[in-house]
Amino acid sequence: MKPAHPKPLRRGLPLAVFSFAMTGLLLLPQGIAQQNAPPQGPKLVVVIAVDQMRADYVQRFRGEWRGGLARLVTRGAWFQNAAYPYSGTETCPGHATIATGVFPETHGIIGNAWWDRTTAKNVTCTQDASASDLGVSRTASPGDSPAQLMAPSFAERLRTARPGSHVVTLSLKARAAIMLAGHQADIVLWQDEVAGDWLTSSAYASEMPPFARAFFDANPLSQNSRKVWTLSMVEANYHNGHSVAGESPPPGWTASFPHPLAGGASTGQAFVTRWRASPFSDEYLERLAAAAADALKLGRGPGTDFLGISFSAPDYVGHAFGPASREVEDEYLRLDQTIGKLLADLDRAVGAGNYVVALTADHGVAPIPEQSQSQASKGGRVNAADIVARIEKVLAQRLGEGRYVSQMVDQNIYFAPGVMDRIHADPSLWQDVQTAILAAPGVQRVFESTELGQRSGAGSLEQAAALDEFSGRSGDVVVALKPRWILAARGTTHGSANDYDQHVPLLFFGAGIKPGVYAAAASPADIAPTLATLCGMTPVKTEGRVLAEAMQAKAASGGQP
Ligand SMILES: [Zn+2]
Repeated sequence: MKPAHPKPLRRGLPLAVFSFAMTGLLLLPQGIAQQNAPPQGPKLVVVIAVDQMRADYVQRFRGEWRGGLARLVTRGAWFQNAAYPYSGTETCPGHATIATGVFPETHGIIGNAWWDRTTAKNVTCTQDASASDLGVSRTASPGDSPAQLMAPSFAERLRTARPGSHVVTLSLKARAAIMLAGHQADIVLWQDEVAGDWLTSSAYASEMPPFARAFFDANPLSQNSRKVWTLSMVEANYHNGHSVAGESPPPGWTASFPHPLAGGASTGQAFVTRWRASPFSDEYLERLAAAAADALKLGRGPGTDFLGISFSAPDYVGHAFGPASREVEDEYLRLDQTIGKLLADLDRAVGAGNYVVALTADHGVAPIPEQSQSQASKGGRVNAADIVARIEKVLAQRLGEGRYVSQMVDQNIYFAPGVMDRIHADPSLWQDVQTAILAAPGVQRVFESTELGQRSGAGSLEQAAALDEFSGRSGDVVVALKPRWILAARGTTHGSANDYDQHVPLLFFGAGIKPGVYAAAASPADIAPTLATLCGMTPVKTEGRVLAEAMQAKAASGGQP
């Protein structure tokens, strides 16, 4: 409790009365004294990240929802203009931004992977030679860890600030579970995408937690092998039509319903791929979350606990079938039910009103180019190998035969050591390289990374690239794609500064939240500072803002009365 004496004295309260009041308070039974203590915010903070959920899905599909998504939209705070302002709209940067409240220029996670100039190899965002992945029955090295995340997460700050607080994060993907957690956590679980077994990291634990081991033993994936994904509604009720052009279904599936999980074998990589790209994997993750909440008594301890859950299936479904598919629409119908079950489980275990939920996505997605070519604005597929070949050709002409490009990862182009210095020494050479890259189909702009510090206007492609620039990790040169042009050979993808990749839902619900529809600009970087304020934590500098307009008055002042 803060020293209270200056206030009564200023009000001219007689000292004797003040002393009596203090003594009286101390003499009250403990329960009543606790009720008068400053509220410490919610008992449980839940962050739900939906992998590849576009903002317009809420507008388009919410009339069909009756479960958890409907509850968040109708009874929570709905920010309709939330977007990532940077260009690397991928899973790892998105989750890192949600967790930390800062952008890739600060947290350092510029993509799911980048080129490591020291080892001359691609490195994933969670790769760590000094960590091991720990499964139920195996240990793998090198493993995954948060070592490359250069900013503290909300969850790790909460765990430090509130003794006794537990942090649990779950996803099918290592990069989602690890980034949501940050550098310290009690339980961080994800699934090996090839073998399908569940893993944690030596960065968090010395072994697979016993509750998780028991859950995985009792719930083998093979129990799902007879399941068939069929449409949930009659066909006429779907907004999305039955389009197939450019789709890239998982092995064993066609572009049409039904989608049986058993494409022959009930184990093996193809089965795991189909299961991960089905709503059944979301249901499994929800049951795992409920088991974790039970095992750690989340929301029932002395601190404020944290549950982060990232649903990966929407991303796999979206990559394969595209945002205009019935598969995507049906995936969200079923996710609405799954999130409804999660909230019902939390209502029972923690109590409605004792927890707060923030829901967003790590990125959106582009339309499938073959499906947009019949429309006014055409798109296409950008060929990274073609861009590299154009650069090699012009540099060979100017500098002589050789290999000048080390790697292209997403929009980042990495030159071989010393090549950028030679380009710098000759402005006409840089001009020729730019011209060659811009001649490739789908390329809108070319930037030199070291010049991105000079920010131009908000919302510009330069600014989006600058917010994604982290020294040592970004390419020497960065390209920006034209609208509806994607860096994928099949299906569709995300990862650009285009609107469909940047705009995502942003919803808050529960303890301390003022329901309503909010039109102000927002971003997923606002989640961490907003949750910190709701929990009464000391503010730290972030690149997001506290969304005070969506907080109840007490909560907006940091949980103080
Ligand atoms: Zn994706």
